[in-house]
Amino acid sequence: MSLGDLKEKIKDAPVSSIVGYYIPLKRSGLNLLGLCPFHSDSKPSLTVSDQKGLYKCFACDAGGDAITFVEKYKNFSFIEALEECSKILGIPFEEYKKEEKKSPKTMMAEKILFRASQLYKKTSESPQSKESFQEFLQNRGLNEATAEQFSIGFVGNSNSVSHYLESIADLKERQLALSVALQLGLIKEKNQSHYDTFRNRVMFPIWDQMGKVVGFGGRALTNEQQPKYLNSLESFHFNKRNILYGLHLAKQEIRNRDSVILVEGYMDMISLYHHGFKNTVAVMGVALSDYAINRLKSITKNFYLALDSDSAGLKAAERMNRDLLKAGILAKYLDFKPHKDPDDFVRKEGSVVLNQRIVEAKLMIDVVIEGLVPAKIPEISSQKIELLNSCFELLSPLGESLEAFERLITFAKKVEINSNQDYLLEAYKEHLQKSKDSQKRAPLKAELKIVQDLESTQQATSEDIRPSPQAYGINKQEKILLEHILLHPELLTHPKIAELLDFVHNPEVKTFVLRLRELAYEIDSAHYESFITTLLGHEEFSTEIREAVAANLFKFQKNELSEKVRDRLIFDIERRIYGEYLKEKKQFLKAKQKEVKTEVELNALMSEILTIEKEITQIKYKKNAFRPTL
Ligand SMILES: [Zn+2]
Repeated sequence: MSLGDLKEKIKDAPVSSIVGYYIPLKRSGLNLLGLCPFHSDSKPSLTVSDQKGLYKCFACDAGGDAITFVEKYKNFSFIEALEECSKILGIPFEEYKKEEKKSPKTMMAEKILFRASQLYKKTSESPQSKESFQEFLQNRGLNEATAEQFSIGFVGNSNSVSHYLESIADLKERQLALSVALQLGLIKEKNQSHYDTFRNRVMFPIWDQMGKVVGFGGRALTNEQQPKYLNSLESFHFNKRNILYGLHLAKQEIRNRDSVILVEGYMDMISLYHHGFKNTVAVMGVALSDYAINRLKSITKNFYLALDSDSAGLKAAERMNRDLLKAGILAKYLDFKPHKDPDDFVRKEGSVVLNQRIVEAKLMIDVVIEGLVPAKIPEISSQKIELLNSCFELLSPLGESLEAFERLITFAKKVEINSNQDYLLEAYKEHLQKSKDSQKRAPLKAELKIVQDLESTQQATSEDIRPSPQAYGINKQEKILLEHILLHPELLTHPKIAELLDFVHNPEVKTFVLRLRELAYEIDSAHYESFITTLLGHEEFSTEIREAVAANLFKFQKNELSEKVRDRLIFDIERRIYGEYLKEKKQFLKAKQKEVKTEVELNALMSEILTIEKEITQIKYKKNAFRPTL
């Protein structure tokens, strides 16, 4: 019995027994109806079908199976959702978890990593290394108790890990151990002999959320030694993006204080923890995965971003803030200037001053918006509109909320846009709508009004407004593509699919369809639905695509199309996708018109636009033998 078996068992149970545990459901024909918890629902829009094992909201498009419902409703990770579902259904989760079968490779990786951390620990206590190690701790303002708690170790200029692996008596086991250690990046191979990757470094075990060692960070002993930080390779066993370093130690305190301090890298985490800020966790690298966000969000909603003071640190904070905003979290920003990072700050200023900064921290979104206001306010209206668009962009995760409106109005005043507030809000709402549809467009109506306002008060050049530089989300045509493919998986093997994907804009849609296509020949149609659901469990896919897919899965009925109908459908999808591609290209060229310097360039551009316009008209009338010419 593995977690896979458990998943199947949960799927066997009626989905209404899980959904109905959280929200009241009423029977309606074959299905059950309830108020959707994922949008503010006034009439029951959530349909639950036990027959299909799926739920779906017809108002906000949320949808999925019992496990995805719990993931979303409780902000749980996949495993946590499994545990929760087992509780509701009275299935003994621990038994499944215990008997989860690990591959020999994974078991070997765990064994080697554990052994290596022991070796590093032992070295730190050896007479040859003790002095350097103690000096390092002292210089970092750490003590032995902290070193103990974080299992900090040491490695000299020796091959302790390779020696240990080569000393394994059983040949088969030794071979597996060496190959796994190579993949983990603990050792390297040269002329058929092995040597250790990490040398003369202080070694920090990196744990997963359960507190199991999955890799190491090695910090240089001296400033001359490069690189300063050397980490284990990302491998089958170590996915940096999912690591929240120190979470197993900090979890309780995050709960107690109802807040979390996010730093970058283990040194900052250990330092803050050591100085009493035990609700700190570190990300490895600068990105936060959806999994990491949801994991923390299930403990607290109060986030402090505590990154380096330089521009790279600020950029990382902005990126994290964007991801957090999407997850509905307004994070605060900790400013460590004039010091360079949290570690530096707390060692020089002390805990009391840091605590003061925490109390006074501003919302990150306000820091970013302030950064948008230029020192000299531009006089040209198109430049002001560009600023306004950047502000829309930043605010869009807040949706149509008072928080967004207030910031928008304040910002407009600062950049001296004195338009009617209603126009501003209208333009912002149109922007939101556009992001949703992801339709490229001519200038928005309300935006035009603001331009007119501006131009009547200033003598500005009469420039076009540049279309927004990016497309957001899945566009309408791509949704149609997903729908057809999901409802008729037999389309995946159509010879024209690859050609058609060239014109798909959204990279996730592309990846998803390609992934399906790779497996199209192998999927047993009886397992089609569960296969797709599993694919959707991969966290690389955003909520948007997961929902778009789940919505279609809900409608899926096995009903194979004839070859003729297939050709017709593919032709139609291709025409739509290609048409959208042309429209986007046209918008892009139009935007470029503004930057053109010479008449020759302008003429070339104009003729290119004309060709595209012609093609757009033509594809409407094409009946068959569709051939993109661009
Ligand atoms: Zn809904």
